[in-house]
Amino acid sequence: MKLYNSLTRTKDEFVTHAPKRVEMYTCGPTVYHYAHIGNLRSYIMEDVLEKYLRWAGYDVNRVMNITDVGHLTSDGDTGDDKMLKGAKREHKTVMEIAKFYTDAFFADCQKLNIRKPDTIVPATSCIDEFIRVISALIEKGYAYEAGGNIYFDTSKLEKYYVFNDFSEEDLAVGVREGVEADGNKRNKTDFVLWFTKSKFEDQELKWESPWGIGYPGWHIECSCISMKNNGEYLDLHCGGIDNAFPHHTNEIAQSEAYLGHEWCRQWFHVHHLNTEGGKMSKSKGEFLTVSLLEQKGYDPLAYRFFCLQSHYRKGLMFSWENLDNSAQAFEKLIARVARLSPDGEAVRDEKYLALRESFKAAMDNDLNTSLAVTAVYDVLKADISDASKLELIKDFDSVLSLGLLNRAPKPENKPEELPEEITALLEQRRAARKEKNFALADEIRDKISTLGYTVEETRQGTVVKRRQS
Ligand code: AMP
Ligand code: ZN
Repeated sequence: MKLYNSLTRTKDEFVTHAPKRVEMYTCGPTVYHYAHIGNLRSYIMEDVLEKYLRWAGYDVNRVMNITDVGHLTSDGDTGDDKMLKGAKREHKTVMEIAKFYTDAFFADCQKLNIRKPDTIVPATSCIDEFIRVISALIEKGYAYEAGGNIYFDTSKLEKYYVFNDFSEEDLAVGVREGVEADGNKRNKTDFVLWFTKSKFEDQELKWESPWGIGYPGWHIECSCISMKNNGEYLDLHCGGIDNAFPHHTNEIAQSEAYLGHEWCRQWFHVHHLNTEGGKMSKSKGEFLTVSLLEQKGYDPLAYRFFCLQSHYRKGLMFSWENLDNSAQAFEKLIARVARLSPDGEAVRDEKYLALRESFKAAMDNDLNTSLAVTAVYDVLKADISDASKLELIKDFDSVLSLGLLNRAPKPENKPEELPEEITALLEQRRAARKEKNFALADEIRDKISTLGYTVEETRQGTVVKRRQS
């Protein structure tokens, strides 16, 4: 299998330290708010990668952290702790916020058929481990204390900027922009491993440490959680492309300084889901969630289908029109699969094997999911029995996870059974929804309701029922 590696900037043959075993790490969510569908694009593509590796015969150990402390609003070690900000916003404690949004994250994942990682570790459960590794880094001369905080000394490294897709200048912007310089840092790229002195006096969660009461930086969390649960040699590290710098760069710096050898060979970065205003982000306030898609009548798996139709290494532009197109194509695909007759036995003849091979070739070529989806259409068109088609689609869907076999197609609409007045209103409502005039659509729904009918958006589409009196 060939997979693009951000470290080497080429499509490399995928290799692992132990034969047929993948130690895989994923940066988990910062649980101060709902995940937006941009975050979930990253998790969908990582899920497909994990499932494909399993499909290809690898035993995968997938580890994910939950960031419930230490992620500041600026990746340059300044700003508020995002968790504290979330807690203040909702007048709750940090732990209440963390629990609520962790549960919400996994509920969204479930709706999108994203498998739960084998090991999930909240950062707050690993404080002793962070302290142990930071102490070792100080001992080895890679970290220093200044102004009460512990910093990683990037000048001690032979090479700091490992993801050299960008110029050093561009990369440094993330550290500089809108950030007052931290006078304690010896080098502008040094980063905090442990905070004791900072302006966040009201930081809710703090722990005892050899350097005083404080809390860990964000980057050290992922290094420690991975080294503890994946071992010293990591095969595959995943995340969104915005995490390549400084987060992943810092993870590599501290892990390799601690271990004294190469840590992770293969870096998989998913590019952004964008809107017209640029990258979808939580800090911008306006962002789309899975629940919002559901409220608007979309099946979450139609969003998964939308993501799979494009390559993970290209930015994906979100618009309602684009999503509508995918949702319609998805419905048609479900309906076509549903028409296949399950009778008879699959025959694994040459045609069958060639179809399976084309799916494999697509995925082996840097996870080309859109070609893999095309392979499903090729199966539907092929001159083989329905039973063979169903077996192949089931096989492909164990990776794509679109629920192609367990979804009922949209029920036939029978508007003739409804009074004319209601059908006319439904038509107006459909038009309003198409124009994204949801206020008008809701108004029409209320009107239909006063006439004794309920309108509900379900996964199978709009369902209209006469209210039982
Ligand atoms: P966070 O919850 O902010 O820690 O982010 C969780 C994951 O989502 C990280 O891997 C990010 O790199 C990724 N991510 C953030 N924004 C986007 C976006 N607009 N599109 C795709 N992935 C994103
Ligand atoms: Zn991370």
